[in-house]
Amino acid sequence: MRILVTGGAGFIGSHLCERLLNEGHEVICLDNFFTGRRENILSLLDNPRFELLRHDVIEPILLEVDQIYNLACPASPIHYQYNPVKTVKTSVMGMINMLGLAKRVRARILQASTSEVYGDPLVHPQPEEYWGNVNPIGLRSCYDEGKRIAETLMMDYHRQNNVDTRIARIFNTYGPRMLENDGRVVSNFVVQALRGESLTLYGEGDQTRSFCYVDDLVEALTRLMNADDLHEPVNLGNPGEFTIKQLAEEVVRICGSASGVTYMPLPQDDPRQRKPNIKRAQALLGWNPTIPLREGLEKTVTFFRSRELRAKS
Ligand code: NAD
Ligand code: UDP
Repeated sequence: MRILVTGGAGFIGSHLCERLLNEGHEVICLDNFFTGRRENILSLLDNPRFELLRHDVIEPILLEVDQIYNLACPASPIHYQYNPVKTVKTSVMGMINMLGLAKRVRARILQASTSEVYGDPLVHPQPEEYWGNVNPIGLRSCYDEGKRIAETLMMDYHRQNNVDTRIARIFNTYGPRMLENDGRVVSNFVVQALRGESLTLYGEGDQTRSFCYVDDLVEALTRLMNADDLHEPVNLGNPGEFTIKQLAEEVVRICGSASGVTYMPLPQDDPRQRKPNIKRAQALLGWNPTIPLREGLEKTVTFFRSRELRAKS
């Protein structure tokens, strides 16, 4: 198949492009390089089945493709809050453009949605039926509400125009190729621990998250894309739940670091707890995450350690 991956030069997108090429597909990677990096896809550039397009999804584009993975959107709070209006445009206009393309060429389209559609959840763990608890006017809203309207567009294009849609609600994902400066907790902690700096714990560090290793997520995304008749959203994440303080301890241990901890204020609307209910993915995709936090963190630390060494040399 010929497959379009928007946001393909980013963290998750680059792993997905690699996986699709390994399966023998042609891959068109589309990216505006806001948070994507050429180095993420460097090893793919020589592959004759790989094509790279510098393009912004808020502009329409004409392509002939069989499947579209729409991942284009900054994912970390620092980056999506840098230009919030642009973040909304990326989710809304980008989604409309990609759905228009899918409709025209009859491609199947998968939207990378997020656990942020649940906001600061009052139901725990979160099943797909939960409608969420989102602040519509806060600092995180450009991302959360953008992703919510993107889901609405997906469902309406499906009902109104019979577009073949898939919605993945992705929970916190980590692994090699995260940006060292994007402010997400795993990359922050690993870089701080490797540099012997204090780990920045926001709030008391007792808020929880569930962390999924990127290879597990990519497996789930391809299963969802290729599942038959599955238009309802599907949670994709690892249900193992940890406090941020536990994560800090684990990272320090794995890095063999002497770093301490600095407590900092909790950001506005920071969700207290988050853990996916993945019964739907288990039942309909036969999917379960396989990589425990410790193993995934070890792989991530190895990646960041060699990046730090390269940066020094
Ligand atoms: P990322 O920032 O590494 O990747 C996003 C990519 O999209 C980057 O390459 C960026 O340059 C590109 N991009 C941004 N705006 C664009 C635009 N207007 N036009 C074209 N390209 C654009 O983030 P990621 O972690 O790889 O996330 C990928 C997708 O998965 C995002 O849609 C994100 O919302 C979603 N997601 C990620 C997580 C996570 O934990 N990583 C969790 C939930 C959802
Ligand atoms: N966090 C932290 N220190 C950091 C970065 C993040 O304590 O240096 C916390 C943050 O407040 C949140 C959790 O870690 O409670 C996860 O943050 P991240 O930005 O990675 O993801 P999200 O909040 O979007 O789930």
